[in-house]
Amino acid sequence: MPEVTSQQPAIDGWFATDSTTDGAARPHLIGSKCPVCGTYVFPPRENNCPNPGCASDTLESVALSTRGKLWSYTENRYPPPPPYPAADPFEPFAIAAVELADEGIIVLGKVVGGTLAADLKVGMEMELTTMPLFTDDDGVQRIVHAWKVA
Ligand SMILES: [Zn+2]
Repeated sequence: MPEVTSQQPAIDGWFATDSTTDGAARPHLIGSKCPVCGTYVFPPRENNCPNPGCASDTLESVALSTRGKLWSYTENRYPPPPPYPAADPFEPFAIAAVELADEGIIVLGKVVGGTLAADLKVGMEMELTTMPLFTDDDGVQRIVHAWKVA
């Protein structure tokens, strides 16, 4: 594995990280909200409200809740096929579907290492964080949003 020289989001524009007065970095997801009917969308996009009863073609960028309740989860015990990156050696990981506290939409994400399905229970309070997904050949560590037990 190449040496890590910098960190970049795996996908631009899905989350932002604020530094706080206590020095901790607090990530939040970036979603979209329809200004007409209030429907939320994640991943973010600029147009095409998904509400079939709404004709709005403009969505506004919004910061989403950093907490929510665990709605469902699973555990991935096999590495994904190429071209998807997988740790070598492969370590099983959990995937959580979390219902955001204020928006009510469900956001999928990996669960931080060390937390597997046996540690999870529907209804648990979850909190957004970030984690490395892989390091590319140029030493850029690619970061994704992830969930941890709050
Ligand atoms: Zn709408």
